[in-house]
Amino acid sequence: MKLDADIKAQLAQYLQLMEGDILLKVSAGSDNVSRDMLSLVDELATMSSHIKVENTQLERTPSFSVNRIGEDTGVTFAGVPLGHEFTSLVLALLQVSGRAPKVDQKVIDQIKSVKGEYHFESYISLSCHNCPDVVQALNLMSILNPGITHTMIDGAAFKEEVESKEVMAVPTVFLNGEPFGSGRMTLEEILAKMGNGPDASELADKDPFDVLVVGGGPAGASAAIYAARKGIRTGIVAERFGGQVMDTMGIENFISVKYTEGPKLVASLEEHVKEYGIDVMNLQRAKRLEKKDLIEVELENGAVLKSKAVILSTGARWRNIGVPGEAEFKNKGVAYCPHCDGPLFEGKHVAVIGGGNSGIEAAIDLAGIVKHVTVLEFMPELKADSVLQERLYSLPNVTVLKNVQTKEITGTDKVNGITYMDRETEEEHHIELQGVFVQIGLVPNTDWLSETVERTRFGEIIVDKHGATNIPGVFAAGDCTDSAYKQIIISMGSGATAALGAFDYLIRN
Ligand SMILES: Cc1cc2nc3c(=O)[nH]c(=O)nc-3n(C[C@H](O)[C@H](O)[C@H](O)COP(=O)(O)OP(=O)(O)OC[C@H]3O[C@@H](n4cnc5c(N)ncnc54)[C@H](O)[C@@H]3O)c2cc1C
Repeated sequence: MKLDADIKAQLAQYLQLMEGDILLKVSAGSDNVSRDMLSLVDELATMSSHIKVENTQLERTPSFSVNRIGEDTGVTFAGVPLGHEFTSLVLALLQVSGRAPKVDQKVIDQIKSVKGEYHFESYISLSCHNCPDVVQALNLMSILNPGITHTMIDGAAFKEEVESKEVMAVPTVFLNGEPFGSGRMTLEEILAKMGNGPDASELADKDPFDVLVVGGGPAGASAAIYAARKGIRTGIVAERFGGQVMDTMGIENFISVKYTEGPKLVASLEEHVKEYGIDVMNLQRAKRLEKKDLIEVELENGAVLKSKAVILSTGARWRNIGVPGEAEFKNKGVAYCPHCDGPLFEGKHVAVIGGGNSGIEAAIDLAGIVKHVTVLEFMPELKADSVLQERLYSLPNVTVLKNVQTKEITGTDKVNGITYMDRETEEEHHIELQGVFVQIGLVPNTDWLSETVERTRFGEIIVDKHGATNIPGVFAAGDCTDSAYKQIIISMGSGATAALGAFDYLIRN
């Protein structure tokens, strides 16, 4: 396999940034993937005099590790890290060569201070856009801490291993042989999961804020920037900074930017937020809100933050279908992200539940990978745009079932079928299949507010045109509100409205 000219040109530029020598230890066989890997490694070695190569026997073949001279770093790639993992490869080469990572010094210190032996294995697919963040985070941890190792494993090259470990979603991470987590995770999230997150006691002693934003998606980031630009003390507390945008691949409707990708947009949001000295308290979940003299927001860890005004921007999450088998087989055949997990179902039969735009987009996408897709729609007609429906019906390997109700996702240790009821005849049917993609929309993250803030029957926070809720001083913005449409640009606009509304409230009170 030869690298194409564009990739080679990019590589050449990056490799010039290497700061010292590195050693690639290569474990290869005579299979096709080994041949591709060897050709990649040889090409790398011809492109930089800093790269030395040595043949060896590693735990997996084909694989290669990236090491400092005379010292193993524990960074291993099993398979060929191209596709979405190309950046992971480049970063590993540069960082092992001594180039400083673009990560907060606080986080670097946190990684270095981790004590113990941690051996991570991450199963990925080369078409998964959520995987590189996890691979790069674990690689960096291995490079910085001698007690940590990480092997990236391309599921397509290690099918038997994937089957035996029952990996049905990527990325799936194992730590010391035990399941650790799946889905996109940031460096900070991984550290927190390992028990090395930010110290909760730091939060309890904070002075009251003028504006505290709960939620760090586009709505929260926009609200915080608008508030901070008024020169008032502003904080953001967020379970996961970036929100849904972190799970979004291509974005083509963020006006004035023709195309961007979720994590890239989140990085810009973070940079913009930091520009204003906003106190960002990431990886913290709010569990209670109460209006006293000040408004109090209690976090899961028990700390209570106080503020004169609060903006709720807790967004939304994938809606579950709520049938038997869904929770039991999550990541064991039940999936929510076709872009990420589709490749794991190559050659298999899958179902998509939901006939709206996201469901039909998913079905079209999956039809190019899997053997057969069955779409199940509850209503008598699909709700997706007609252009999507036309494309769907033109595909030979798709069956559409309308006016049907999913009853159960069946399986033993993983999904083996789906049972549905024809709503007209009330007859039950069963289809044997290996994967179910649930695509039935979003539900607002507002359960934690219990009875405090007025909401619609769908749980959406009711706001007026200033973004104000029924509680004086409490505002809301974005997907967690009753706004008619849920989009990035709309969330940002409503975040700005809520911040200006909150500022107006502070002046008057
Ligand atoms: C796969 C996918 C693709 C999409 N593609 C596009 C697109 O191309 N273009 C477009 O315009 N829109 C797209 N959207 C929609 C868009 O992402 C949302 O409309 C937007 O992110 C909403 O922003 P938000 O800030 O209101 O909420 P979110 O993005 O959901 O952010 C919510 C924030 O609140 C935090 N949070 C939640 N609960 C708590 C709690 N109890 N305590 C503390 N923090 C909490 C979350 O961690 C997060 O930081 C897509 C959505 C998905 C899922």
